[in-house]
Amino acid sequence: MENCYKILNIPENANLEEIKSAYKKLVRKYHPDINKDERAEETFKKINMAFEILSDDIKRLQHDTLHGIIASARNDKKEENKEEIKEEKPKTKTQKEEIKKEESFFEKILKNKKYKKAEDFKVNGENINTIVEITGKEATQGITKKINILHSEPCPKCEGRKFANGSKCTNCGGTGEKSIHKKITITIPKNVKSGSKIKVKGEGKLGKFGGKSGDLIITIKVIQKNIFKYEGGVAILEVPITPYEALLGASITIPTPAGNTTIKIPPQTNSGDKFKILNSGIPQTGSGKRSELIVIAKICSPQKPSIETIKKYKELQELDTEDVRKELFE
Ligand SMILES: [Zn+2]
Repeated sequence: MENCYKILNIPENANLEEIKSAYKKLVRKYHPDINKDERAEETFKKINMAFEILSDDIKRLQHDTLHGIIASARNDKKEENKEEIKEEKPKTKTQKEEIKKEESFFEKILKNKKYKKAEDFKVNGENINTIVEITGKEATQGITKKINILHSEPCPKCEGRKFANGSKCTNCGGTGEKSIHKKITITIPKNVKSGSKIKVKGEGKLGKFGGKSGDLIITIKVIQKNIFKYEGGVAILEVPITPYEALLGASITIPTPAGNTTIKIPPQTNSGDKFKILNSGIPQTGSGKRSELIVIAKICSPQKPSIETIKKYKELQELDTEDVRKELFE
């Protein structure tokens, strides 16, 4: 944000009358009805904003705070200037009429909604960007996580004014802000893909002059164990399946280099059976596509079967008389 004193070309301790007089002088020069230069309108808008801010005590204080200006020297001068103005008061009728005309001209300008108000000086806070790493399991199941964010808050010593006791605040080094660690709880939905972003509204940097706070933008990074093999330009993944999934067929969720996906295992699948999954392997430069992923089924026996499970398997063994090894003896 620009320094409003520089825009109006006045000293930082200017009083209201000086501000008004500088403003009027500049309006006469840059009002779009008078000045036809293309850039004049831009300048005119700036002049209006500067005047709106400096003629309002609270807005002026906020502005001064932002620019590290100490306002203390201003008050004494006020009285002197009041007297000066008294002396300047017009005496003749024509002078009075001229002033009246000019005042209505300025009133008209100030009421003109086309020109921006001090609200445009609102400074919205910046977004804070951060990366959160999660495991493949967390990505599949979703997770609620507490994360630490380096946040900024107004300095407690100078209350964001940048100055304390007449000199640069020692607590914040004159920035008016203090970094604090803030714990924020975020909910990561299930089946989240690496690189997806989660926005937490209002948890970014604080806005100024009533501006909105920024957002917290979290980029999710899924850290996968190196479970893939890469051979001949394709990715390969060995996938354990249970004996019943192998026999009955199943729909199972597996990780791929492109994120989790669900595949169908057909009935009577054997260990070593291969399944091709298109566009899920190695990223192909330029095309934005991926190589295929080869899934190799591997039947795994349950390692902690319950007594009940063993009983059922025994029943199945008795039922199933098929010789799966007969080919070895042919
Ligand atoms: Zn401070």
